[in-house]
Amino acid sequence: MRILVLGGDGYLGWPTALHLSDCGHEVAVADNFARRSYDDEMGVRSLVPIEPLQTRIDAWREVSGQHIRMYYGDLVDAEFTMEMIRDFHPDTIVHFGEQRAAPYSMIDRKHAVYTQQNNVIGNLNVLFAIREVDPEIHLVKLGTMGEYGTPNIDIEEGWLEVTHKGRTDRMLYPKKPGSFYHLSKVHDSHNIEFACRIWGLRATDLNQGIVYGQETPQTVRDSRLATRFDYDAIFGTVLNRFVIQAVLGHPLTVYGSGGQTRGVIDIRDTVECIRLASENPAEAGEFRVFNQMTESFSVEELAKTVANNYHGNVEVEYLENPRVEQDQHYYNVVHTGLVELGLDPHLLSNTLINSLFGVAEQYKDRVDLAAMRPTVQWRTASSPLRVQQN
Ligand code: NAD
Repeated sequence: MRILVLGGDGYLGWPTALHLSDCGHEVAVADNFARRSYDDEMGVRSLVPIEPLQTRIDAWREVSGQHIRMYYGDLVDAEFTMEMIRDFHPDTIVHFGEQRAAPYSMIDRKHAVYTQQNNVIGNLNVLFAIREVDPEIHLVKLGTMGEYGTPNIDIEEGWLEVTHKGRTDRMLYPKKPGSFYHLSKVHDSHNIEFACRIWGLRATDLNQGIVYGQETPQTVRDSRLATRFDYDAIFGTVLNRFVIQAVLGHPLTVYGSGGQTRGVIDIRDTVECIRLASENPAEAGEFRVFNQMTESFSVEELAKTVANNYHGNVEVEYLENPRVEQDQHYYNVVHTGLVELGLDPHLLSNTLINSLFGVAEQYKDRVDLAAMRPTVQWRTASSPLRVQQN
């Protein structure tokens, strides 16, 4: 298949492009390097050094003999998006290309507006371009489990059978997101469902859990193929951050009581889910939703798992929660769709955590300790010091 990966320079987009290329697909990546510029803005950097996209592509050609095409541009630019899709004419578009950090979207008005403009308009431009160029193109869009929030009922895969006053209908599952970023994903989901229902497009919305891990079978083939590893309080996902804190001998910082429960997924399963969704497209007119997660844990359980597996002494520190979220709640998620397509999940095991400890150990001298403390407050949406300085 011809597969275009939007956001192909990112933490997940790059290893996904490699996995798809390794599986024999013809792959192109697109990016505007916004993620690299947030690093400059926040004064942070990936723990693992990453190469420029062109160097990564050259390295992949050297080790695999496969060529990945590259498009540089902004999805918010409708003309660029249309021309790229016309030029590459993919069978499938995998859309990772959005601002993805909840704390970043909660810094202040400017960052909230940027996040929603970037994500919602970029996604709309992709939908219009598909309609214009070829409505048969299958859109595989990355959403998040955070769209649902923590409702007091089971979380279904995108749709809910509702009986109201004796009548029944199949409705989009109601969403209760927890940040302006998560809201942007809800808006995207509605726009995509509309495009499927009204224009007959075909789409798969993948509501993904929190991703952990840094290596895939392809990225380890050459150090120039490494993907990002973020640990800071704005972009670092929770398990990756705990691993680095353990290695540095710092307490693992749990927000609130740590009872918040979340779905998680190994990066090796993320890339495989994208392959499965791409090779088994949605029907024309279908808005298909999968919950792309394999297990759920409370934040405290994740901290204890990291602490128990590390050979040194690890403490857990409970910080006042900067976010507004329930820390005691019901959480039961249906996630069978991708398993039915053939996903054989890697569950959170000592092997994975141990390999992450190794990565963190290797690069621990690059850590900026101050970057790990949370600075963005949900209630006040105040600018953190690091942003005011810029
Ligand atoms: P990332 O920030 O590392 O990658 C996103 C990429 O998209 C970056 O390279 C960025 O430069 C690019 N991009 C952003 N806006 C763009 C635009 N307007 N035009 C072109 N390129 C643009 O993020 P990630 O962690 O790889 O996440 C990828 C996707 O998966 C996101 O949509 C995110 O919401 C979703 N997701 C991620 C996680 C996670 O734990 N990382 C969890 C759930 C969902």
